[in-house]
Amino acid sequence: MRQLSNQDTLLITGLAASALLIGAIIGQIGWSLFVATAIWAITQHLELGRLGKWARHPLTRPTNRLDSWHTVSSPVYQYIKRERTRSRGFLQRLRELSTLSGAIPDAAILVGSMGEIQDFNPAARKLLRLSSGDHGLGLATVVRQPDFVRFLRDGSEDEQIEIRSPFEAERTLEARRFNVDGGRIIVLVRDITELNRLLTMRQDFVANVSHELRTPLTVIGGYLETMVDPDEDAETRLQLADRLTSPLRRMQNLVDDLLLLARLESTPAQTDLSGVALAAVIERAVREARGLADERFTLNCEIETEACVIGVETELYSVCINLLTNALRYSPQGGTVSVSFRDLPNASAPMVRLTVSDTGVGIAPEHLSRLTERFYRVDLAGSRTRGGTGLGLAIVKHVLRRHSTELHIDSTLGQGSQFHCDFLTVPATDSTTPSQT
Ligand code: ADP
Repeated sequence: MRQLSNQDTLLITGLAASALLIGAIIGQIGWSLFVATAIWAITQHLELGRLGKWARHPLTRPTNRLDSWHTVSSPVYQYIKRERTRSRGFLQRLRELSTLSGAIPDAAILVGSMGEIQDFNPAARKLLRLSSGDHGLGLATVVRQPDFVRFLRDGSEDEQIEIRSPFEAERTLEARRFNVDGGRIIVLVRDITELNRLLTMRQDFVANVSHELRTPLTVIGGYLETMVDPDEDAETRLQLADRLTSPLRRMQNLVDDLLLLARLESTPAQTDLSGVALAAVIERAVREARGLADERFTLNCEIETEACVIGVETELYSVCINLLTNALRYSPQGGTVSVSFRDLPNASAPMVRLTVSDTGVGIAPEHLSRLTERFYRVDLAGSRTRGGTGLGLAIVKHVLRRHSTELHIDSTLGQGSQFHCDFLTVPATDSTTPSQT
């Protein structure tokens, strides 16, 4: 109920006093009091009108002029203002929560005690293709795999299972469950296809390295056993010691290649690269290859440009020597290996091309896309006996990637192969790295 304020009392007293005074003067006290009462009633009516108008828009400041009416509207206004600030806070938190749940890449689904979908985040729309129409549907009807149905019904807190994606059979999902309240659970689902692939790659890598080391180790072990045999004469021992060189070199090559590959993969590409005179690097690699090859091979080298490329000389040398040794390794006696380095006149920017070609065994088309994978070999036994580690082209790929280019392979089975890569050139400067010949 509205209470009279001091202002009201003053107003009433003032009106009454004025009415009495004026009434006494004009001899019409009754009329004066009536007029004063009418003024009072009109004032109150106007205030009521202001209150009614404000009540329709209670978020604005009340417009009542009399304190007694203010005491009605003001606390309500203050209350609404406080609530508005509170609900703004709630809304802000809700927005933050929604941003958070939207940013989580894993699908999160709130499942009711009857197994029905109650809520889910945006990732669930992508991963499990849930839509707003699926609210209330059983999650087990979306993923109909028996393991998953059991996991939903009887799974224990924090249990996790692997399932096939119901929409892309080749993708593997991992689901985890957490109890919430009243029999409800939260199911988190994430795509672990890539993770599994990396895990398999790692296991394969370890298996491959062990396998590569086991063969020379077995050979060395066998020779050593014979060497320590007291019945063997000194000459046989010397012969066996000589034979240890080949498996030892193979192990050394493998370890060197593994270390180089690990370094290439783990260190970021250098940013302060210098101009490298690639022609000199190629010539050095050709000289080294000539030393490895015997005279039954023809090794041609055509350097037609002195252009410099931006890069790391040691890495570029490993590209040249790997391509060259492969060309020699997979060519029969009497084969020809050719290296060329020339400008690419029709390129949009100044570029050069390094090409290594051979007249060797060639590669069937189905192998081409996998050649740069670690330990991928077309002919496993052949590669080993020819001294390959299975890592050469993987190293080439990584180095070229660090030099913003890539390896192109053309090959015809039985006729030979051609490997090439293109580099952007830079003008030669004083800082151009000279090749260490
Ligand atoms: P490897 O040490 O076995 O030579 P690489 O990574 O250098 O390993 O090469 C991968 C595979 O690619 C080789 O095992 C071989 O089968 C094939 N290959 C590479 N270079 C040639 C080539 N010039 N001619 C034919 N096959 C090649």
